[in-house]
Amino acid sequence: MTPLAERLRARIEAEGPLGVDAFMAACLTDPDHGYYTTRDPLGAGGDFITAPEISQMFGELVGLWLAQVWVDHGAPGAFVLAELGPGRGTLMADALRAAGKVPGFAQAAQLVLVEASAPLRAMQAEALEGYAPRWVDSPEALPDLPLFLVANEFFDALPVRQFIRAGEGWHERCVGIEGAGLGFTTRPAQVPELDYRLGDTEPGEMVETCAPATAILGEIGRRLARHRAGAALVIDYGAAISRGDTLQALKAHEMVDPLATPGEADLTAHVDFGALAAARGPAEAAPLTPQGVFLERLGITQRAQALAGGLEGAALESHIAAHRRLTHPEEMGRLFKCLALHPASTATPPGF
Ligand code: SAH
Repeated sequence: MTPLAERLRARIEAEGPLGVDAFMAACLTDPDHGYYTTRDPLGAGGDFITAPEISQMFGELVGLWLAQVWVDHGAPGAFVLAELGPGRGTLMADALRAAGKVPGFAQAAQLVLVEASAPLRAMQAEALEGYAPRWVDSPEALPDLPLFLVANEFFDALPVRQFIRAGEGWHERCVGIEGAGLGFTTRPAQVPELDYRLGDTEPGEMVETCAPATAILGEIGRRLARHRAGAALVIDYGAAISRGDTLQALKAHEMVDPLATPGEADLTAHVDFGALAAARGPAEAAPLTPQGVFLERLGITQRAQALAGGLEGAALESHIAAHRRLTHPEEMGRLFKCLALHPASTATPPGF
């Protein structure tokens, strides 16, 4: 048993079974034993790899997207360039290098990062040296200026609750004690916010909700509407609607039992993009677009060809593989989706 598992067992003995959300929150961000709070999980030597770590092209295209929308919105003279969950800072460093070629963008940007992990904040400080980043604990704490925001593989790390349809209501899946470890149980739950799912689910089916995610989208939507400029780009794996159990744990690039090693494996759930878009309040949402389509529309193939010119041998092969990995429907191209929010009075952003 991990130290966090011992602690969770004691908590369950005292308080009863935990919702999957409370379990996930403890596993990921417990101050002493949380997965993110205690390590750098990214890259080949870590537990998983993300798009910006696969190729510089990803961050570059996101940077050019942000700069294009900034220009289209009248190039506000002071704005917040924000990232939620910046990991190693790779995406933002690539984005700023590319967007820095757009006159005025980097000078007008106040870089603010929302990050829960002290080790990752330190890596971000190093990667973004020269851009004077600041950190805040939550999106509500971002300065009140026009907001240009990106979040890649952030929302999948937010805690979900899981509900199983039982007749015309729901049972919540919980984490309790089983033998010497932890096991799943269920309890009846009142969830009026899931009434709308009674029409498209059968008894026994599971759906997931993520209240922290919808709260953040609401906050972003209100800011975009207030300033009538700005945009948010959310990239993650998931679907237009939540269906089934998507809780998964990854350790050293392998799927493991989510209850087996609390605090030592990455824990995620698919993003319910329909629920995110519905939470946007007064802002507009662009049509949900697969990552592969989005990157192709932004010109990833031209960028890949330009970069390929300077490469040969193994470096060229791995560059070609990275392009395929980011865009091909059987790799990240289809499972990963892009959602953009923008003020109601503004044009649909590029790529959508
Ligand atoms: N965007 C990066 C990293 C993705 S991993 C990339 O694409 O490589 C998830 C990131 O979100 C990490 O930086 C993690 O520390 C951060 N994170 C997870 N939960 C968080 C929370 N509740 N608040 C703030 N940051 C969080």
